[in-house]
Amino acid sequence: MIRGRYAPSPTGYLHLGNAFTALLAWLQIRREGGVFVLRMEDIDRDRSRPEYADAILEDLRWLGLDWDEGPDVGGPCAPYVQSERLSRYESALDRLLEEGRLYPCTCTRAQLKAIASAPHGLGSEGPAYPGLCRGRTLTDELRQSRYSLRFRMPDEPVSFRDGVFGEQTFPAGAGGDFVVKRSDGLFGYQLAVSVDDAAMGITDVLRGEDLLDSTPRQMLLLRALGHPVPRYAHVPLILGDDGKRLSKRHGSVTLRELRQAGVDSRRLTGCLAHWAGILEEPEPLAPQDLIPRFQLSAIRKTPVVFDDAKRRGLFG
Ligand SMILES: [Zn+2]
Repeated sequence: MIRGRYAPSPTGYLHLGNAFTALLAWLQIRREGGVFVLRMEDIDRDRSRPEYADAILEDLRWLGLDWDEGPDVGGPCAPYVQSERLSRYESALDRLLEEGRLYPCTCTRAQLKAIASAPHGLGSEGPAYPGLCRGRTLTDELRQSRYSLRFRMPDEPVSFRDGVFGEQTFPAGAGGDFVVKRSDGLFGYQLAVSVDDAAMGITDVLRGEDLLDSTPRQMLLLRALGHPVPRYAHVPLILGDDGKRLSKRHGSVTLRELRQAGVDSRRLTGCLAHWAGILEEPEPLAPQDLIPRFQLSAIRKTPVVFDDAKRRGLFG
């Protein structure tokens, strides 16, 4: 039985880009009769708001999606909210530390900025960490001070076959040694996602292309923790007509705003499926009716540009 998930962060209302990914992730799992999990990724306490978490569930339901396990319906892998899973991340860190996979880093942001940018930076997260603290160990003295924990990237390339983008190979150490726990105590995104995907038995991850370069790091963490690695499929992003990622600048793009403006949810899901490449014409179809049409191989590889014509299409 395959298991997939949609894992939103409650830092704002769902927009068209989120809906696009959620719909495709749901279709992939429903097509195979698998289990669909909803996980709330709220470890960034400064940016997460409970009212957004509630709104996300409401908007997903309006879109016509459902889930078998999640914060509101429970399930065998509960809790499905990251802020309630912190002890699991701590145990994973203990294990990685014991096995010498992590090291403490005391570099300040200013120090790192002063160093000439390293060549292997990944687009999404700035320049790669140059490894200044690689030789450090966590002494009792250091435990009293402020430090972050970094994962030691192994000296080997990472390859995987993406369900949409095909063969991917990242050079050894791509992105540099990354932070798994910040000096302020916040757990790293890569760590939390990997621990949760493993604990929730996720076999298939479908998510936005912006996370493609996170995949090798998550694979390495999963392997280091002795877990199987899921299959990955990344789908293109939806961009505004200026080529930038969809945001408030592009007018009404949240599901909330579109719903209030009178957009029908079936028309919206039909359009999303058409933009994705799995529906020839943007006919109004509920997610349920799209299940037999879903094909991973049909999904386009280039970004979707949300222009005026597409906006008009949402209103029929
Ligand atoms: Zn350092």
